[in-house]
Amino acid sequence: MARGMIPILDLTRQYRYLEEPIGDAIAAVLASGTFINGANVAALEDEIARYTGAQFGVGCNSGTDALHLALRALNIGPGDEVITTPFTFIATTEAIAMVGATPVFVDIDPLTFNIDPLRIEAAITPRTQAILPVHLYGNPAPMREIASIAARHGLVVVEDCAQAIGAQIGGDRTGSFSDAAAFSFFPSKNLGAYGDGGMLVTSRPEVAERVRSLRSHGGRVKYHHEEIGLNSRLDELQAAILRVKLPHLETWIERRRAHAAAYSVALEGIVAIPDETPGTRHVFHQYTIRVSNREQVRDELAARGVGTMVYYPVPLHLQKVHEPLGYRHGAFEHSEAAAREVLSLPMFPELEPGEAEAVIDAVRSVCAETVPLA
Ligand SMILES: *Cc1c(COP(=O)(O)O)cnc(C)c1O
Repeated sequence: MARGMIPILDLTRQYRYLEEPIGDAIAAVLASGTFINGANVAALEDEIARYTGAQFGVGCNSGTDALHLALRALNIGPGDEVITTPFTFIATTEAIAMVGATPVFVDIDPLTFNIDPLRIEAAITPRTQAILPVHLYGNPAPMREIASIAARHGLVVVEDCAQAIGAQIGGDRTGSFSDAAAFSFFPSKNLGAYGDGGMLVTSRPEVAERVRSLRSHGGRVKYHHEEIGLNSRLDELQAAILRVKLPHLETWIERRRAHAAAYSVALEGIVAIPDETPGTRHVFHQYTIRVSNREQVRDELAARGVGTMVYYPVPLHLQKVHEPLGYRHGAFEHSEAAAREVLSLPMFPELEPGEAEAVIDAVRSVCAETVPLA
């Protein structure tokens, strides 16, 4: 080992790089005296909309709220079913449950970790109203296939883009393929704030308008309320910080992709490496391998100073909170296998080439004798 622990993520390096402009941006907001719905929020909404290719952006308190409000603005509610993947973070189904609808799971394609479009139609019932794909790990879900299924069955589509800002299919960016899409600015995401934050994007003006109202206590005019909403605004301070970071996002994505390419070249044939569908751009929020003896590999990598994480150890259909949905072990074999075998390696733009090499050396020596998965 060349040095100490190589963390899976180190946010301090990016801060050191941008310390001055971020300090200036924070000071300017403090001096302005405007902390809610100020000029930075409005500007960031335009900038993110333009970046994604959607027409409108609406800042929210978190990615979870953006997902929740997307579903509400699309009139998804009690009695409705929303088709989604069981191999994701709980926020995806939380948003569905918060509007009173029922998540219906469809297994993943084991190669991409995303919802398998070939299995979606079998899950559609007369109650189905929406499909909610997640671009897991930054790998874009098959949006063209999903959009055509949705069109055939008269369903809306909501994208969970929390891990995939900047990911592309055929040159178009995630967030532009659906009725509404949710982004997260949680600090560890590819575009991270210094606190919670999120944004809904849409090209449907009535959806943008409704979410603007819902995020501000259900009214467009102050002290005039049309429906029960909530308080879910993006802070002016966070928006100012994100506006300093956004111009660097493409460079940061390219660095992630360069680290991923180096990992993949060196690890192919030793472990199962991530797939990138031709014609798409994976943004490697996570670089996730699969190994059959994961806990042992994890421990041995830790002993060699390599930090790893498991996203996610329990698929959502087997979570205690979703017991009432009635799913059993074995219901979704690919999601369950992924939950047993996935392991994410250190991945962030500021990872140094020497660190990536040390990760590769460690994985190669730990995994050399294990049988690679298909
Ligand atoms: C992070 C994340 C969310 C939620 O974002 P928050 O801003 O933390 O609320 C939703 N879905 C997925 C897949 C995520 O990774």
